[in-house]
Amino acid sequence: MREKIVAGNWKMNTDLKSGIDLAKEISIRLKHKPLQKDIRIIIAPPFTHLSQVQEVISSTSMVLAAQNCASESSGAFTGEVSASMLYSTGARAVIIGHSERRALFAETSEQLARKIDLALEAGLQPIFCCGESLEERKQNKQNIVVEQQLTEGLFHLTIESFERIIIAYEPVWAIGTGLTASPEQAQEMHQFIRNSVQEAYGKHTSDKTVILYGGSCKPSNAKSLFKQKDVDGGLIGGASLNAGDFLAIARSFEED
Ligand code: PEP
Repeated sequence: MREKIVAGNWKMNTDLKSGIDLAKEISIRLKHKPLQKDIRIIIAPPFTHLSQVQEVISSTSMVLAAQNCASESSGAFTGEVSASMLYSTGARAVIIGHSERRALFAETSEQLARKIDLALEAGLQPIFCCGESLEERKQNKQNIVVEQQLTEGLFHLTIESFERIIIAYEPVWAIGTGLTASPEQAQEMHQFIRNSVQEAYGKHTSDKTVILYGGSCKPSNAKSLFKQKDVDGGLIGGASLNAGDFLAIARSFEED
C-alpha cells in the first residue's frame, strides 16, 4: 500500500496572522475529528509564515512544506531562500517546479534539477510538479511533455534519492481554472508517470512512488479522483485556503 498524501499549496495568500489562524483551524479540526485513515497532511504556507506555522502544527502530525527553494546553496543571491534555510524553519518538504514557477518565473529544467538536489541534501522531501499546458493537450503531446519534465528534473537521481520524491501531476489547464481532469484522464497520466518511473528505476520503486493529482481539486471531485488506482492523493491550491474544504478533501479517502 502506498502512502496517501493531501498537500495544501497556499501560494501567495494570507498575511501572517490569517495564515497562523488557518493553520490553527486545521489543527483544531484535526484534533476534534482525527482522520480515520493514515493520510499525511502537508501544508505549504508562504516563506514568511513558516517558523510560526511550524509552532502551531508542532503538536500534530502535519508536515510543513515550502513552495519553492533557491537553485543555489548560499551566497550573493538577494531575495532567495535556500533549502537549508527552509529546513531550519521546521519545513520538511518543498514544492519544486510548480507550473507558476515554470511559466511566470521562467524556471528551467536545469534549475529545477539543481533545486531537487539541494532540497534532498538539506533533508527536505521534494514535491515535484509536472504537467502539460492546454495547447500541448490539444495536440495530444501530454505524455511527451510530462516524460521530458520527469527525465530532466528527476531521472538523474540515484534510486535511493529518487525514492524520497513525491510527484504531483498538475495539468496547467486545470490549475485555478475550475476545470478538473476527469478521473480517467488523471488515471491515464498517473499510470503513464508510474510506467516512466518503472522504466527508469524498476517496478519496486515505481510501486512505491506517491503521485498526487493537482488542478481544481475540491471536496466535490476529490473522491472520484482519489479512487483511481494510481492517484495517491492531491496537491490542493485554492481549496486549501479553507480548513473545512481542505480537510473534506483529505476525508474523501475515508468514504466508501
Ligand atoms: C496548485 O496550484 O497546485 C493547484 C492545484 O491549484 P488549484 O487547486 O487552485 O487548481
